[in-house]
Amino acid sequence: MTEREVTENPFDNSSPFDALERSRRESFLRSFSATSVPMMSPVLAVYIWMFVSSPSWQIALVCVLTVLMIGANYMASWFARRQKAVLGSYIFLFSTLFIIGIDAVMIEGLTAVLPLSYAVIVIMAGMLLGSSGSIVIATASAFLWVLAQIVSERCLLPSVTISSTLLMAIIAVITIMGFFFTAYLNHLATKDLQGALDNATYDLVQANRKLGEANRLKSQFLARTSHELRTPLNAIIGYTDLTLRRVYGSLTAMQEDGLKRVLGNAKRLQSLINDILDLSKIEAGEMELIASPFNVKALVDAVDVAVGEAARKKGLEFSVSLAPDMPEKLIGDEIRTAQVLLNIADNAVKFTVDGQVDILIGLVDDEHWHMEVRDTGRGIAEENYERIFDEFRQLSTPGGTRTAGSGLGLSVARHLVHKMGGEIRIDSEIGRGSTFDVILPLWVAEKAHTQL
Ligand code: ADP
Repeated sequence: MTEREVTENPFDNSSPFDALERSRRESFLRSFSATSVPMMSPVLAVYIWMFVSSPSWQIALVCVLTVLMIGANYMASWFARRQKAVLGSYIFLFSTLFIIGIDAVMIEGLTAVLPLSYAVIVIMAGMLLGSSGSIVIATASAFLWVLAQIVSERCLLPSVTISSTLLMAIIAVITIMGFFFTAYLNHLATKDLQGALDNATYDLVQANRKLGEANRLKSQFLARTSHELRTPLNAIIGYTDLTLRRVYGSLTAMQEDGLKRVLGNAKRLQSLINDILDLSKIEAGEMELIASPFNVKALVDAVDVAVGEAARKKGLEFSVSLAPDMPEKLIGDEIRTAQVLLNIADNAVKFTVDGQVDILIGLVDDEHWHMEVRDTGRGIAEENYERIFDEFRQLSTPGGTRTAGSGLGLSVARHLVHKMGGEIRIDSEIGRGSTFDVILPLWVAEKAHTQL
């Protein structure tokens, strides 16, 4: 296939199919019109010869109608070039149906080839107008065929009689032409469809490649800029913290209040940048997990300090419990495991107004352990179980407001859990609370030293 320039993403438009189909039909109509002279010329030559050898008004009429049919075919092609292919197709199909029908009635015995000719026209109608058009033409064909039978059987129109040898010759020519024309239609439809399919596949592959490249560049850009942002931000947080600790001298109450706000907002920004950095690393396939033995109790303490304080400040009951049969030391990426648990526990506190948040760490079976976070918060509707893991997705609150956060926490958490070979399950009821259960493969430090 030759290299074609993909000027636009085919998915930007509603569907390229309609335009593709329209242009296919126009090109069919032009091809059919172009074949009318080579197809009709031999038949017209026979009719003219018949008229010359024994003149009759019937043969004269047949000759005139055949010339008119060639004219109608050209008129159809003219319409096709002016984007009026449907009108052109109906002119082409109906004129052909009528003229062939009249021709068959005018010459005695010629109605024998009418079914074959009409069948070819119905196939052409399908190619030009689709299935609904072919049904219209099939109905018209059936009606005209019955009419032709009645007219010729009852001798309602005086038909001309020609010698049986000549009749046989005409029937043979029309029949053989019908066979070859059907083969030509088949070739036309297959070739055209294959071409359209080739082009569509090519566009799809190109668009997909460009999307992949754009996504890779986006992740690379995010990873780099996030890194550049983190360095000055760490300095802001560090120096603000030192100032608040009075390292640089005493502070007035107003100064302290202002600096606390600076610190709070800088930390929020830092967590957002960290999430973006993590996500871009994950998308760029650069997120590496480092497996080493870690103490499960340290995980419990970390979450108790980081989230417990916020929960208690809100007046929530908060508990973290470790199942008695839980091994003391596991192998895994301690920092990333803690990050998952903190993200989920942080949400539990954030979305619970009163009641409690409980965290349970324990075994599921011989090969899995889990971290379960239960809250008595606002709950999540079942249709949103999947959506909350989308990047930057936040569910609006009943009042229509949005809570603080980036909408990245769960997305990052799920990516990490999947990378660790685990899964996150949700069970929730609106107004009653939610349970997030993180299930991870169990690698006990004393037993195994499997690498992630
Ligand atoms: P963020 O918390 O920064 O908004 P997340 O990705 O952590 O982003 O969560 C996405 C959304 O999922 C939240 O905005 C919230 O609407 C919903 N959500 C997450 N955890 C809970 C929960 N425990 N209870 C109710 N809603 C939750």
